[in-house]
Amino acid sequence: MEKQTLSFQAEVKQILHLVTHSLYSNKEIFLRELVSNASDACDKLRFEALDNSALFEDAPNLEVRVWYDEQARTITVRDNGIGLSAEEAVQHLGTIAKSGTREFVARLEGEQKKDAKLIGQFGVGFYSGFIVADRITVESRRAGARPDEGVRWSSEGTGDFEVETIERPARGTDVILHLRDGEEEFLSAWKLKSIISKYSDHISLPILMPKQAWDEEKKEQVTTDEWEPVNKAAALWTRSKSDITDAQYQEFYKQLSYDSEPPLAYTHNRVEGRTEYTQLLYVPAKAPFDLWNRDKRGGVKLYVKRVFIMDDAEALMPVYLRFVKGVIDSADLPLNVSRELLQESRDVKAIRDGCTKRVLSMLEDVAENQKDKYAEFWAQFGAVLKEGIGEDHANQERLARLLRFASTQADAGVSLADYVGRMKEGQEAIYYITADTLAAAKGSPQLEVFRKKGIEVLLLTDRVDEWMLSHLYEFDGKPLQSVAKGGVDLGKLQDEAEKKQAEETAAAFKPVLERLKTALKDRAKDVRATTRLVDSPACIVVDEHDMSSHLARLLKQAGQDAPKGQPILEVNPAHALVKRLEATAEGDERFDDLAQILFDQALLAEGGQLEDPATYVQRINRLLTA
Ligand code: ADP
Ligand code: MG
Repeated sequence: MEKQTLSFQAEVKQILHLVTHSLYSNKEIFLRELVSNASDACDKLRFEALDNSALFEDAPNLEVRVWYDEQARTITVRDNGIGLSAEEAVQHLGTIAKSGTREFVARLEGEQKKDAKLIGQFGVGFYSGFIVADRITVESRRAGARPDEGVRWSSEGTGDFEVETIERPARGTDVILHLRDGEEEFLSAWKLKSIISKYSDHISLPILMPKQAWDEEKKEQVTTDEWEPVNKAAALWTRSKSDITDAQYQEFYKQLSYDSEPPLAYTHNRVEGRTEYTQLLYVPAKAPFDLWNRDKRGGVKLYVKRVFIMDDAEALMPVYLRFVKGVIDSADLPLNVSRELLQESRDVKAIRDGCTKRVLSMLEDVAENQKDKYAEFWAQFGAVLKEGIGEDHANQERLARLLRFASTQADAGVSLADYVGRMKEGQEAIYYITADTLAAAKGSPQLEVFRKKGIEVLLLTDRVDEWMLSHLYEFDGKPLQSVAKGGVDLGKLQDEAEKKQAEETAAAFKPVLERLKTALKDRAKDVRATTRLVDSPACIVVDEHDMSSHLARLLKQAGQDAPKGQPILEVNPAHALVKRLEATAEGDERFDDLAQILFDQALLAEGGQLEDPATYVQRINRLLTA
């Protein structure tokens, strides 16, 4: 073929424009793309050679070589893979075949602001070479073709390219980048090596570079004729489970996570079915310092056929599993997949669901078989896992089984299933209380009647608990019920005699209640007699559908507006202080002091703060000195 000049397809021009104008901040990815193409070319040769082993010619060892030439200002990526015929060079390097890429480009073109980061995260392919090069020359010979059937393709990456036939004995492809002015940083063995190990360490072919050695005469590092591999060349996760030792899994985890501690658990599987992928997922033993940063990503790396695509893989793991580290390697996703396309892809959704379920079964397994380990896990990550109750409705039931709490029976480790197993005859609900600290929860007056009757109450003290409970209404068919909300209805747990007595006491107590209501009309929505108290004179509760005072306090601390609803004061008619109120004559001003103190104390007992502590102290002192 005589030398010809041909024009790029319109979409290629768009890509070229985008790549050279928007990807400047992430230019090193060109090497990832070229190495990945070289590796693909070797895969293709291997595949075609299945039917025709002659294609291997005299070079059966497939490999990629990368080097640079300081004088010529070039970087070359060479492979001995399938190669390109002249027609293929025109076709593959002048047009875009894949509809996904075309769509993506069309969309980016339509957007006003082109997010360089976004573009950087999708494989831009061969054309990314033009980020750093103002001319790319490709020389190639297809496997099986004659030495005089080689091709040279060359372009400045603007409107057109040249092709011609050349003499080329070597099978495979050289991609030669002629660097732009200002891109000298890439003329460095160290630089190229570090990019390769960052992006291409797990390419399963050897990637070779000329060995550097110290020259005593010149007193500098020089390039030798010897070649050495710069990648590890065997992705751990592609190997079969039975060939990998526990120590190797742990070592890989360290590289992946920069965590010095061994992981708590891991799972490694090849998933087959509608979409094929390999997952190697780890649960760390210790929470990272930035666990609470929900925007932080990077736990799970996405590879497509062993080529690193991104570690910003929100699409691959739900936020509440952000502590999981690992690798997902898909056999089906296109390499040049954008983050946006990722989120819309059904394959990705299937991978995400599959990986979520995997992590949950790994946790279930630890919870079931290694209780101490699970307790460690829970202490580190429990509060994060709780976010899943609200975020992942499909797995809510499984997540609920993984929850662990403190309760009036144990300071930690109580599962909802344990609780249900211990429920009293006739008990219909799972009772809980929320508070700022375990001590405050334990000391809560609302618990008294439950203690007296030996009914377990869960003590919830994580900030996320209130939010979680707004999504978890029941477990195993039993409703979850706050002991600090609404009236206590112990249902069948209270016998008829008790109920009758309570009603009688309440009736006899009515006049005092009326006086209390008047005294506290600015502070309490209602005042009523209760049977939930044993040792305390009074407690604060909120209506069934009102926000708990604990949540209201959390919101206030976070600087948000909490609805200013008034609470209900419940008093214990049997308590001495309340009896004293009863005995205080109509018109006696001490009644008002006592009423206010009763309310203030109830507030303090549940961890609240007084708006006017000074007045509270004065009232107490008046009574003490009376
Ligand atoms: P993709 O790799 O996703 O197909 P690229 O833009 O990276 O997209 O490459 C476009 C095409 O060019 C490839 O599909 C392949 O046909 C061809 N190609 C690129 N590099 C090589 C190479 N080193 N050897 C053989 N063919 C190549
Ligand atoms: Mg490619």
